[in-house]
Amino acid sequence: MKAITLLRVDSSRAASRSANRHVAIGDLDELAAGLARVFQVSCHVEAEPVDAEFSYDVARDQYNSTAILQRLAGRGSEAERHLLGISGLDLFVPILTFVFGEAQFAGHCAVVSVHRLREEFFGLTPRAGIQRERLLKVAVHELGHTLGLRHCADWHCVMATTHNVEGLDLKGMEFCVRCLSRSGLAAAMRGRV
Ligand SMILES: [Zn+2]
Ligand SMILES: [Zn+2]
Repeated sequence: MKAITLLRVDSSRAASRSANRHVAIGDLDELAAGLARVFQVSCHVEAEPVDAEFSYDVARDQYNSTAILQRLAGRGSEAERHLLGISGLDLFVPILTFVFGEAQFAGHCAVVSVHRLREEFFGLTPRAGIQRERLLKVAVHELGHTLGLRHCADWHCVMATTHNVEGLDLKGMEFCVRCLSRSGLAAAMRGRV
């Protein structure tokens, strides 16, 4: 991975369905800075959002993350540039109630959602700091899958599997030594210094 492009994944009709489905530009810039720090690559935020209305499932009132991934993959990208969609929409895959994100394994596209990372989702007072931290962890995790990493048994590792925000808050932001070396990131980072 040499660079990351962040794409806002929005829906032209979501605003009329319910509030809190958009990602603030400030959150995107913050995430870009965090990802640039973790992966030691340049991270650019694309101005034009992707309209994910095509992935809307009326029965579930959610958006199909696999369909969004396919759309992102169809955009094409230069080699070694990974595309990460950031959404405020509630994402799902058919076999699960919801997903925080989904990635192409050893591919170059991933999508994550802030929808269920927000304290407001649980009826709590918004806390921007914790939400940003959760989003960064989910984004690093999904990009880890694009680098060919599977789930990790070390619960401190960002590649540990998490199904709720409690688990997300417990795990770390970093890759464990094994995941670092498996992903090729360690060697790539060494090569850059
Ligand atoms: Zn995962
Ligand atoms: Zn690990």
